Amino acid sequence: MKKHTLAIGVTFFLLSGCLGIAPAAIENATMSQDVQVTLTSSQVIVNGNKVEFTAYNINGNNYFKLRDIAAALNGSAKQFDIRWDEANNTIELLTNEPYTPGGGEVSDSGGPGTLTTVLSSVKLLINGVPAEITAYNINGNHFFKLRDLGKAINFGVSWDAVLNRISIDSSKIYPELTGESIYGKQAYAYVEYIQNNLDRRVVGTQREKDTVEFILAELEDAGYASDQLEIQRFSFITKEGVAYDSQNIIVSKRGKDAKVIVVGAHYDSIDTYGVDDNGSGIAVLLETANRLKDAELPYSLQFIFFGAEEVRPIGQGSFDYVNSLSDDERQNILLMINLDSLLAGDKQYLFGGKYQSNGSVTDLWAAEQTKEIADDLGLEMILLPAMDPSYDGPSDRSDHIHFRNLGIPYVFFWAGNMELLPIGDLRQTEALGKILHTENDNLYVINEFFEGRAQARLKNYALLLDVVLKNFTAA
Ligand SMILES: [Zn+2]
Repeated sequence: MKKHTLAIGVTFFLLSGCLGIAPAAIENATMSQDVQVTLTSSQVIVNGNKVEFTAYNINGNNYFKLRDIAAALNGSAKQFDIRWDEANNTIELLTNEPYTPGGGEVSDSGGPGTLTTVLSSVKLLINGVPAEITAYNINGNHFFKLRDLGKAINFGVSWDAVLNRISIDSSKIYPELTGESIYGKQAYAYVEYIQNNLDRRVVGTQREKDTVEFILAELEDAGYASDQLEIQRFSFITKEGVAYDSQNIIVSKRGKDAKVIVVGAHYDSIDTYGVDDNGSGIAVLLETANRLKDAELPYSLQFIFFGAEEVRPIGQGSFDYVNSLSDDERQNILLMINLDSLLAGDKQYLFGGKYQSNGSVTDLWAAEQTKEIADDLGLEMILLPAMDPSYDGPSDRSDHIHFRNLGIPYVFFWAGNMELLPIGDLRQTEALGKILHTENDNLYVINEFFEGRAQARLKNYALLLDVVLKNFTAA
């Protein structure tokens, strides 16, 4: 594949008028940063079929011609037509209309030789409404950022790094922007309820049992049938030699594919309010279970409220769960997402991958795909590969470790601040230090010191989880 690299800053270029979609004026000829442009080397799959495109990768994102996408999606639920308004330097995109070829078809002029790339100043209207989509003019053709188009027209775009493959799927959806504001609202109400009614959910106590009753009642209210709900009982002996009984609550929901995504959150706490650790995880999981009850999803789901995470050895509920699985059942799990302590930390993290004894990290693809979706949604999430277990960081201190140890891909959602010192401690906030397992794991304290943070964290993680469950693609 030919590669072209050029600097945008020196490109002053006016095109002849022979192109159907007229050349755009140079929006900002004094731009100084370098733009790396290469022909896209990835395979492109549209609704399961391989399609040939001339597309460019510009600074890590793929750009396609609008007419190529329109032709590829023609006849699907996301088909659209294009009108070119030369006088106003405007492209009008009409959704739900069959594509009319011609009237502005452009030929590929992006072969070998010099590529001239400038930011495009063309205006794009979608059903009459101006759309913010990054576009470049490359040798006279407009190329639009594929992910922006997917978001604007509501089709799925996913990227498989292993197969070097871009997938465009007309059945997938990104959430309507108008709907985003509802993410995290119900979760916040759950956190308030937990603060006021279900603090100190210590294993073996009445409050632990009350919490199980509460979660089950919420799931039944959400409409889950009794054959979708399972209480998995287990017994264990702690490091200190004390015997306990506890239980996991497992919600099962069939998707198009029998492969399963497990989403887990432990519901026990130590002797605190435990709204961060892990009322936040319970809350996001309950909100998501409500939201997805009747959704048609690509993969089957198990939502698991794990018991007895806060004991040593850590994560007895999740340990019991993975041990209860047959080899086939383990292999059937596509991904495990663990929600633990989402509410209070300064920054939003995603951990993933498997640390190897030679220091490398493998099996990071699932976390990378999740991070890419977070980026698309404009959520500020930091991806950190799994750390050396001897480092004793947050990536080794919750239920996902038992899945990771079996080679099951996982993503661990956690909010903290890894830039603080000392390394090795669970660093969460600059203002108050660690929140989880302290007196400050209290909604009133968190709201007083970090106004609006609890709502923002719940919203962001709930939104990300929702979109991942609807768009995740197996490697
Ligand atoms: Zn926890």
